[in-house]
Amino acid sequence: MIIVLFGKPGAGKGTQAPLLAAALGVPTLATGDELRAARRNGTPLGLEAQAYMDRGDLVPDAVILGIIKAALAEPRHANGVLLDGVVRTVPQAEGLATVTAELGRQVDAVLCFDIDDEEIVRRLAGRTVCETCQTPYTGREPGSKCDKDGGTLVRRKDDEPDAIRNRLAVYEQQTAPVLRWYREHGTRVAIIDAVGSVQDVTARALGALAR
Ligand code: AMP
Repeated sequence: MIIVLFGKPGAGKGTQAPLLAAALGVPTLATGDELRAARRNGTPLGLEAQAYMDRGDLVPDAVILGIIKAALAEPRHANGVLLDGVVRTVPQAEGLATVTAELGRQVDAVLCFDIDDEEIVRRLAGRTVCETCQTPYTGREPGSKCDKDGGTLVRRKDDEPDAIRNRLAVYEQQTAPVLRWYREHGTRVAIIDAVGSVQDVTARALGALAR
């Protein structure tokens, strides 16, 4: 089972991913988390990605496809995976289709978390994340501690207003066309209303997958 979690930055993919993963019994793979870990560790991948990420631009497709290809070959992803934050461009959709076909697998469904820009700006402006485990929080001040591992909550550089605006523009230009690509290639696309309580959105997503 390969499920793509899709939607604008701030739509709640990162919040929903672990909840859906627990309910479905499959791990998640978040390219943003992989890239932030690479930055913290100062690897060549992290250094290459840094400037793109800080501006809110997309990291080159070849870099992302390298991460995905390596991850899908890992035994822990053999039974299924929820992809969080990838696919973000049509070339990534094409590249992922090639990689999965080589493995005799396919993307089974795309869950698109639907939300308007005004709500996104409101959410991201109030978001902090744990600097160690990346768990996102709304309405908690930077410097507070993470409930899960006690790590310090920080504001992401790309949650600053200019970077948010850029990320929304990048989404419209480069990411939104991916939905049409999947529909045209016969992959199931479910639109999930992403406004409401975390539990309600999880229930909607699981309901859509069960249908
Ligand atoms: P996220 O945590 O998913 O919001 O990702 C944070 C940043 O990492 C994005 O704004 C991009 O700069 C980069 N990134 C993560 N996933 C991708 C992807 N699939 N394609 C290109 N850039 C990505």
